[in-house]
Amino acid sequence: MSQRALFLDRDGVVNEEVGYLHRAEEVRFVPGIFSLCRTAIALGYRLIVVTNQAGIARGFYTEADFEILMDWMRRALHVEGITLDAVYHCPFHPEHGIGHYRREHEDRKPGTGMLRRGAREFNLSLADSIMIGDRCSDIAAANAAGLRQAFLITGTEASACTGTYLKIETLAEAERWLLSQG
Ligand SMILES: [Mg+2]
Repeated sequence: MSQRALFLDRDGVVNEEVGYLHRAEEVRFVPGIFSLCRTAIALGYRLIVVTNQAGIARGFYTEADFEILMDWMRRALHVEGITLDAVYHCPFHPEHGIGHYRREHEDRKPGTGMLRRGAREFNLSLADSIMIGDRCSDIAAANAAGLRQAFLITGTEASACTGTYLKIETLAEAERWLLSQG
C-alpha cells in the first residue's frame, strides 16, 4: 500500500530564513513547526525535507557543514518528538556554482527530482502528498510532481506565484488543513 508524505522546504519553513544558514547557533525554528510535524506523523505522513542548498554550490559552506547542521537539527526535532524520515538536498547551482557544483540538476527546485526520489524510496503516492514552501520554486516543484496540495507560507516572496497553491500566514493553518482532511 502506498504512503503519503509531507514534504517540507527547510529554510523559511522549518527554520527561519537567515540566508545561507549553516550554523546551529543561527537556527530559529519557525513557530508551529513542531506541532505541525507531530500532527502529520500522527496522521500517517512521512516527513521529508527537500532543500536547495546553493550555499554549497557557491562555496559558502561544505556538504560536511550541511550534514553536521542537519544532524543537530534532527536531534533538536527528536527532542520534540519528531523523527524526519529523510532529508534531501540539492547542492548545485547552474550559474553560481563553483567547479562541479555549477550545473543544472533535476533535484534543484523547481525541478522535481527530490520529490520523485521520496516517492521511490518510501513508496509514496505523490497525488496524496503535500508540500509546504516559502518560495515559488517550491510551489512549481509541487505542482509539477502532481502533489495533492502545495502551501506557500508568506513572508519570503514579494508577490504571488504562478501555479496552484494555498497561501498561509502561519504553519498552524497548514496543520488545521491536515486535521480537517484526516
Ligand atoms: Mg525556503
